[in-house]
Parts: sequence; C-alpha cells; structure tokens
Amino acid sequence: MFTNETLQGRVALITGGGTGIGLEIATTYARLGASVMLVGRNEERVQAAAAAITQEGGKAQAMRADVRNYDDVKAAVDATVEKFGALDILVNNAAGNFVCPTAELSPNGWRTVIDIDLNGTFYGCHAAYPHLKTSTFGGSIISIITMLGVTGWPGAAHASAAKGGILSLSRTLAVEWGGDGIRVNTISPGPIGDTEGVQRMYIDAGKGDLEARKTALGRFGRKADIANAAVYLGSDLGSYVTGDNIIVDGGRWLKYVAG
Ligand code: NAP
Repeated sequence: MFTNETLQGRVALITGGGTGIGLEIATTYARLGASVMLVGRNEERVQAAAAAITQEGGKAQAMRADVRNYDDVKAAVDATVEKFGALDILVNNAAGNFVCPTAELSPNGWRTVIDIDLNGTFYGCHAAYPHLKTSTFGGSIISIITMLGVTGWPGAAHASAAKGGILSLSRTLAVEWGGDGIRVNTISPGPIGDTEGVQRMYIDAGKGDLEARKTALGRFGRKADIANAAVYLGSDLGSYVTGDNIIVDGGRWLKYVAG
C-alpha cells in the first residue's frame, strides 16, 4: 500500500481534474502528500472539487482552462508554479468523445476531439517541459488513453486516432526528454464502472452485464484502480519506468483480440 509520504512535496497539474478519473487522481495524490492544481472548462466545478480536497486536509487549487487553447494551458502551468513553487507531475486526463459512424462525422466533430485529446496533451507537455526539467524529483508526465486507441474504435475514429496519437507522442517524448530526467507514460483504463460515462452508456442502457463480460475479469474497474496506477507512475515507485503504457483494463483488450 502507499503511505502518506508517497508523493510528499510533489506538485501535480491534472487536466479534467474536476470530475471522474481526474478528480480521483487529484484526491488520491493530495491524500499522499502532493499539492494539486485542477483545471477544466467549468470553473465552478473545479473550484468545488479543489475545495473538497482542501476540506479534508489536502493542498489544492483550481482554475478554468480549456486545453484546446495553448495560452490557457500555459497560464495553468504558470499558475501552478506560482502557487506551489514547482511542477513535478503533469496528468493529461481531459478528454471529449461521442459515438458517430465515421461517414457521418463532420470535420468539426473530428477536429474538436483531436483538439481536446491530442492537441491538449501536446500543449500540456510543451508548456510543462521547462518546469518538469527542473523538478527535484524528476518530472513525470502521465496521459490517460485507452487500448481502443491501439486496436481501433469503430464508431469513435476521432477519439481512437487521438488516443493512438497520444501513445506515439508519449513514446517520442520519453526518448527526447529522458536525458532531462522526465518520465513519460500512459495509462489505458478499461471500462470504469463508477464513472458517469460508463454509468450512462452501459449500465443505464441495460448493457452493464454484457460489457462487463467483455473483460477477462468479468467486471468493471473502479476509478481507484486508475488512481493507483497514476500514483505508481508519479512517484519514485515508478522511477525507472518510461515510455510505457500501463493497461488497467481487466484484460478487456486481450479478450477483444482473442475474440
Ligand atoms: P469525465 O468525467 O467526462 O472527465 C473529462 C474531464 O475533461 C472533465 O472534467 C472535463 O471538464 C474535462 N474537459 C473536457 N474538455 C475539456 C477541455 N477542452 N479543456 C479542459 N478540460 C476539459 O471522464 P472520465 O470518464 O473521468 O475520463 C477521464 C479520462 O479517462 C479521459 O481521458 C478518458 O478518455 C479516459 N478513459 C475513461 C474510461 C472510463 O471508463 N471512464 C475508459 C477509458 C479511458 P470540463 O467539462 O469542466 O471542461
């Protein structure tokens, strides 16, 4: 198990930190000693999330930022360093998606998802780089993707291409920035049962059991499963791990490939 010291003294910026998996990572990081900056487009929501973390004794700040806008991302990075004195961990978690057959997908719909997921991740990495390079712990970039970005994702070509692009970007940066002591990794969650998306798309739609059976373990994951992987990668526990993609999907993609 992790101790309260696991992330002591580290500073993390988490995009999309006001909800779901991003909020779980932020809350867990704060419990383990990190200072966290939460960003999202909905200012009220990220402020409320940061207040809840502060309420339970953590160090948290929040600000509005749209990851499609480089200036917003740069401002969030600068604000993190100004408030907490450093930036050690960047978690690129913000994402957008919708199901649409590719023949019916508008260029605008395509561009929007690529902008949030892929461009937003690049903007975060680029803006954070000078600070991660001077991190006393060694910088860590963690981007949340999905194995559907590797296998292909019929009905969500935009998100699939974006997530696959993030994997490629991360492997490139792992090599380019390894000499700066920066580790760059991705996490691929499977269906996470306690997120709004899975609740709405699968459970409420009466497809919960069917989707759970598509995993080798026969059940959905929990947000905490992803946060645990993010702690490992953000801390010294993962200090020799870079360019990796940690698959936390209950064996879903292997079962998908096995047929
Ligand atoms: P979620 O609750 O919808 O979180 C997405 C977050 O991204 C929201 O907080 C949203 O906040 C933020 N966001 C969206 N567009 C943004 C933008 N332009 N600028 C800044 N922030 C933006 O989803 P989740 O289920 O927790 O997913 C989190 C990550 O896990 C995503 O990368 C997703 O692809 C990945 N994932 C999830 C699952 C799953 O089962 N849930 C499975 C595989 C992968 P605002 O609306 O306030 O901007």
